[in-house]
Amino acid sequence: MTIEERLAEVRDRITEATQDAGREPGSVQLVAVSKTFEAAAIRPVIQQGQRIFGENRVQEAESKWPELKAETDGLELHLIGPLQSNKAANAVALFDVIETVDREKIARVLSEEMLKQGRSLRLYIQVNTGLEPQKAGIDPKETRTFVDFCRQDLGHTIEGLMCIPPAEENPGPHFALLAKLVQDCGLSKLSMGMSGDYETAIAFGATSVRVGSAIFGQR
Ligand SMILES: *Cc1c(COP(=O)(O)O)cnc(C)c1O
Repeated sequence: MTIEERLAEVRDRITEATQDAGREPGSVQLVAVSKTFEAAAIRPVIQQGQRIFGENRVQEAESKWPELKAETDGLELHLIGPLQSNKAANAVALFDVIETVDREKIARVLSEEMLKQGRSLRLYIQVNTGLEPQKAGIDPKETRTFVDFCRQDLGHTIEGLMCIPPAEENPGPHFALLAKLVQDCGLSKLSMGMSGDYETAIAFGATSVRVGSAIFGQR
């Protein structure tokens, strides 16, 4: 299959899963995860009208996205990997949405950088639903307090919550937990679901799914 065919199939499956869940058509956004792929592989996907992309490393994104953004209007770039404070300035300059805010320090640094650069990024809080020690994300129990802190103390626009369930587990309970937390926090956006489980995530209320290999091929 070509990259165009794979993209079309993912779009069809998102439409179908949205319908099956009894949800509004168009209520699930596709974030095309282009990490490890070069600009030449990304262009055909942009040509098919895809505008939202995800990258997990700031430095790698800087090697291709300034060029791609200059070629096409309206591209929206999401950071979906961990962010270190020393990369925050670069991240604020290039990305439109940061999905991986997970601690007070980075929330503060982002606040300072946005002010300095006059840019306002939309943020997601990453939640470690499986409480995995090696994985980033805030403890589900602390999510509400952290969201309130980001909004009230720092004035951030918190768009929603994001999670990456443990690889070997049934993702359903993790998606359900994130959906409940989003309600508890008074938020509405849920970034959850990847190539292997995006249809399940849609059934649990995902408003955006992050799909890489099902579009671009194996990394
Ligand atoms: C790589 C990545 C994805 C996409 O994974 P695929 O299985 O290739 O679809 C989604 N979310 C995050 C946070 C990732 O790092």
